[in-house]
Amino acid sequence: MNDYARIAEHFNGDVTNHTITAQCEDEDDLFRYLRFAAPKTSMTVVELVAWPHNLVIAGSHGSFHFAHYAADREDMFDAFRGRVSPDHWARMLVNGRGSVAQYDRSLLEARIREYTREAIREGWAPRGVGKAVTEDVLESGYLDDENNAVRVVGEFQYGVKERRECSCGAADEDAGRYDQGVMWAIRHERENGKTHKVRTRQLEGFDFDDVHEWNIHSLDYHYVWQCHAIVWAVSQYDAARKAVAA
Ligand SMILES: [Zn+2]
Repeated sequence: MNDYARIAEHFNGDVTNHTITAQCEDEDDLFRYLRFAAPKTSMTVVELVAWPHNLVIAGSHGSFHFAHYAADREDMFDAFRGRVSPDHWARMLVNGRGSVAQYDRSLLEARIREYTREAIREGWAPRGVGKAVTEDVLESGYLDDENNAVRVVGEFQYGVKERRECSCGAADEDAGRYDQGVMWAIRHERENGKTHKVRTRQLEGFDFDDVHEWNIHSLDYHYVWQCHAIVWAVSQYDAARKAVAA
């Protein structure tokens, strides 16, 4: 798991001696190029290129292109003043959020544990659920690969009882037996025609909801570093302009 506070610390340590070493701008048309470097000792270079609605950060930590075509984002420097928000800004990446987010097994495991603990605390999980989750999910050996992991978690059930009900009011009275329930639904729909729609309702038991919506991706180290670099570079630029004006 990437520790974002640690990345901020690294960034601050990396640019202690850095100043603007090249600058080229057409302020009226919002075309800007900035380069930041330090005396020979440092390999770290930050470069910033901006044109209306676009900003590219480049240099020693890789390049990332942001674009936002809203009326108030003609000057993209305005989007990067203040708090560093890598997660939020990822939506402006031309290559998409997926280009900087990786599957993070530790985030998934933490979410599984939290979800299970909550279910036990709220009293709706059947007894023994903790052990089952540990053995069949956490220790399944399938969590290293994202697709396998999401499937294993999404399909996990413990003590589940279901009832099948049709739009006509008929129901499978033998609730709880999965194979018989499926047979009943097929038979009922075949015998009564297309207007009959059987739905499945979960009466009790434990499973994981909305697994596809869980946040199980952490942001790329260099991307987060460069987000700090943008905010820092823009503030350096602002300070330099203020100095010139005064
Ligand atoms: Zn029916």
